Amino acid sequence: MKLYDTPSTEYAFGYHETPRSGNGINGHGEKTKRRASHVFHNATGEKLAWRALDDFFSYINDWQVVRYILANTWQLRRQDGPVARKREPVEDTAAAAAAIKDKARELGAGLVGITLVTEDALFEGHKAPHPNAICIGLPMDREEMTHVPHKRAAIEVMRAYHEVSRIALELAEHIRDLGWPAKAYGNPNSTEILHIPLAIRAGLGELGKHGSMISKEYGSNFRLAAVLTDMPLAFDGPVDHGVEDICLNCRRCVIDCPPDALFDNKQWVRGVERWYVDFDKCLPYFVKTYGCAICIEVCPWSEPGRGPALSETLLAKRKPASRQPNKPS
Ligand code: SF4
Ligand code: SF4
Repeated sequence: MKLYDTPSTEYAFGYHETPRSGNGINGHGEKTKRRASHVFHNATGEKLAWRALDDFFSYINDWQVVRYILANTWQLRRQDGPVARKREPVEDTAAAAAAIKDKARELGAGLVGITLVTEDALFEGHKAPHPNAICIGLPMDREEMTHVPHKRAAIEVMRAYHEVSRIALELAEHIRDLGWPAKAYGNPNSTEILHIPLAIRAGLGELGKHGSMISKEYGSNFRLAAVLTDMPLAFDGPVDHGVEDICLNCRRCVIDCPPDALFDNKQWVRGVERWYVDFDKCLPYFVKTYGCAICIEVCPWSEPGRGPALSETLLAKRKPASRQPNKPS
């Protein structure tokens, strides 16, 4: 994918008093495990260090983006609700998980997986209302997304959030109709959960050098939502489709990121060594360009139809090295 007319990294926005570094809030460089703290987008009402930039982001957004945000906020009033008195018992968690995934796909999900909600997927000071997470991914229109980092792509991003949110809401309603509590999470602003660690553990994809997820089916060209529930369901596990094999040598996202916010090497973040985005460099450009998204669209995995063949080639290349020598009898 080729980029065109990429805006400069000079900013119209400036703080009177520079806020605390977002990298510090995120725990960049920390080798001890701790939970994440809210730093920018926030749907929980907390006053955040970078709030002024988030407000500025809202003011400059295109009316079509705002239209999707408002519609999503309105539909999310249904994220929780009454549970049917008669409960459908679950005797086979694998069969129940398969039925829930079928329902999610029937509602329009492109990706779906199930996992346990663990502490690393909860923001500091927040609790999960239910222990199990159904993670949902929805692909974006690739043609629209080739217009990153411009308004046309931003409109598609918010359309996708509105749609994936609708799927999560209807899935949660379906589960409540079966007699099990369920709450939908379809807000692109941070709530109490972190979608990426949940979705990785649920097998939707792997973390890429650009700090976003990469799925075999859609690369990074998708958006996430989730449903948390008490319904007993069989869990999925993390997948390995070869992302690491490419990311260790590829630099496409690093080269194309205008403010140089991506690292060549993994970084320590809250006790885990992983790919990380320099928040303080990325966010001003992200806001200036209505959500940027250059890094996820230039990634070779995001090229439509490329992922499955790429994964097959990468995994086949590994085979000789992983062959074990015959044991002496
Ligand atoms: S979203 Fe952030 S990290 Fe990605 S290309 Fe844009 S500025 Fe760089
Ligand atoms: S562009 Fe290359 S390095 Fe960056 S996430 Fe994609 S595969 Fe990994």
